[in-house]
Amino acid sequence: FDRRIFNFAAGPAALPEVVLKQAASEMLNWQGLGASVMEVSHRGKEFMALYEEVLHDLRTLMGIPDSYEILLLQGGGLGQNAAIPMNLMALGKNGPKADFLVTGIWSEKSYKEAEKYGAAHLAATSALEIFNTIPDEASWSLSDDAAYVHYCANETIGGVEFPGVPEVGGRLLVADISSNILSREIDVTKCGVWFGGAQKNIGPSGVTIVIVRKDLMGHSMSITPSIWDWSKQAATQSMLNTPPTFSIYMAGLGFKWLLAQGGVQAIEKQNQEKANLLYSFLDQSSLYENRVTKAYRSRMNVTFFLKDESLNAAFLAQSNAAGLVALRGHKAAGGMRASIYNAMPLEGVQALVEFMRDFERRA
Ligand code: PMP
Repeated sequence: FDRRIFNFAAGPAALPEVVLKQAASEMLNWQGLGASVMEVSHRGKEFMALYEEVLHDLRTLMGIPDSYEILLLQGGGLGQNAAIPMNLMALGKNGPKADFLVTGIWSEKSYKEAEKYGAAHLAATSALEIFNTIPDEASWSLSDDAAYVHYCANETIGGVEFPGVPEVGGRLLVADISSNILSREIDVTKCGVWFGGAQKNIGPSGVTIVIVRKDLMGHSMSITPSIWDWSKQAATQSMLNTPPTFSIYMAGLGFKWLLAQGGVQAIEKQNQEKANLLYSFLDQSSLYENRVTKAYRSRMNVTFFLKDESLNAAFLAQSNAAGLVALRGHKAAGGMRASIYNAMPLEGVQALVEFMRDFERRA
């Protein structure tokens, strides 16, 4: 390749070119140590300083108050699907219990995993609408004795996103923000826990961000493995075991990049513009369609179908040849998906729309 592709992968996903170049330039000699960041001790002063800066930058970007701890863990969002019930479910008034808003495959996975640890209550589901919408708030059956309400802020596979933090009558909320972290402004105080992997909007896979209100730690079930116990991780600066140092370093470069873009407020504007461009094209097309309720369309994962599905293979082959890569939808959903996270430039979405328009004309 003599140029980079426009990569629409859902995660691991495209990273800013400047971030990759900086990592490349520091690969053999980081901070004058004559070694890369991944070859030095996580307890050395250079890495510890980097670590503090990474936390500081994330705190700044998201506006995370001191009353919240930031944990940088391993095991991904799926790991937290087990860790969250083990750390929080015991707060249920009549035994371990949690409520779930199931709006797609990821929140469904969270719900199923939690069943291992206590009563998982299905408060709402859009399964019958093939996860193309969010059930009306008035229909949710929220419990009064559950420890928390779990929701997935952005369903990566269906392309369904909550436009804001759901209203749950003062109950404790837990949010899976794996695929929209740092893509839009949020009020951190509205949830007790926010979690997600870095591999979509931040950096490479390997590090999982868990933001926990401090008073929610220390309630874990006795069976909780030490590495999944938030209070034990917090007490050791998430270094109970060896942390994923390279992923943390790369996440740090990602945070610096986002700060240089003007932070979350600025990137949100760009994300809105990119999503609007693609959805308004889809809406006027006679070949393509998006099937998600308009108010809940994801700004990050734009799903679409070709009305004539016999054209799918040609669409994928030709888009790929044009350098517009990884547009095949998740196998559970079918169709196509363009993931347009923070690092996808507007030009990438413009190029995609141009290609799609041309393909439609020729079809
Ligand atoms: N939640 C959502 C919304 C996701 O998109 C993903 C990964 N695609 C996960 C959870 C699982 O995350 P991980 O692969 O980091 O375990």
